[in-house]
Amino acid sequence: MSRSSFQQFHWQSQQFGCASNDIDRFYSLLHEQMQRLGMQQQTLGKIESYPVDLYSPAAPKQHLPNILISAGFHGEEAAGPWGMLKFLSQLNDDVFLSVNLSLLPLVNPTGFKAGHRFNQYGENPNRGFGVADGTALETEESSIEGKLLIKQQALLKALSSDGILTCHEDVLQHHCYVYSFEPEQDAGPFSLGLRDSLAQYFKVAEDNSIDGCPLDNGLIHNHYDSSFESCLVRIGAKRGACSETPALEDFDQRINANCAVMQQFVSSSQ
Ligand SMILES: [Zn+2]
Repeated sequence: MSRSSFQQFHWQSQQFGCASNDIDRFYSLLHEQMQRLGMQQQTLGKIESYPVDLYSPAAPKQHLPNILISAGFHGEEAAGPWGMLKFLSQLNDDVFLSVNLSLLPLVNPTGFKAGHRFNQYGENPNRGFGVADGTALETEESSIEGKLLIKQQALLKALSSDGILTCHEDVLQHHCYVYSFEPEQDAGPFSLGLRDSLAQYFKVAEDNSIDGCPLDNGLIHNHYDSSFESCLVRIGAKRGACSETPALEDFDQRINANCAVMQQFVSSSQ
C-alpha cells in the first residue's frame, strides 16, 4: 500500500463541532488561543490566502530550553493541528517560566483545507530539506512551504535547539508509532515517553517495517531522511521526534493523542 497524494479525507470532530478541514474555524480558534497566551506571531509567508505562521514566546528567557512543535505538514493528517489547538486550550502562560516554546501549527494550509496530503501545487511539504555542512538547503523536492522554512532556518534552528516535535498521522494504520532522534544509538526516556503517551490511546505498532524503515518497540530510531524534523536535528536540535497517530481510528481520539504527545514533549523538556 502507498499513500495517495490527493485522496481526500474528511472527519467530523465531536469536541470541536466541525469538520477536520474547516480551516476558517481552525484559524479563528488558533488566534483566540494565541491571544490568550500572548504569543508572538510571525507570518513566514502566504500560501494562496492562508498564512504560514510561527508563534514564539513574547519574552524568551536565555537560560531556558528552546523547543519547537510543528503540525499540519500533510493535509490529510488533520488531528495534528486540531490536537495542537486542544493542547493550547489546556496550556497556561506560566509554561513560559520553564521553557521557550515555539509553534508552527499549520504548515500546509491548502492541503489541510482540501483534506489531502500534498499542497495544492502537488508538492510534499515534508520532503526536500537538504543538509550540507550543517546548513539546510533547498533541493529539487522542496515545496513552497519547505522553502519558507529553509529561508528561516537560523531562527528555526535557534527555536528548536533543545528539541523538535512534529505531529503526523498515518492513514494506513490502526496503530501508533514514533520516529525518534537522540544522540545515543539506543532510544532513551525521551523517545519512550512520547511513544507511551500515544499508547494511552492506541495500540503500538508491532515490530515490523513502515515505509522500509525498521520499527522496534513502536520506534523508528535515528532514521535520517529529507524531512523537516530530520533536517533540524542534523543542523543542531539536540533531539527530535515525529509522532504518528493512526488515521484509521476515531478522529477525536487522535486529537486527544496529539494533545497528549505535545504535553509529554513539553514536560520532558522542562
Ligand atoms: Zn505526514
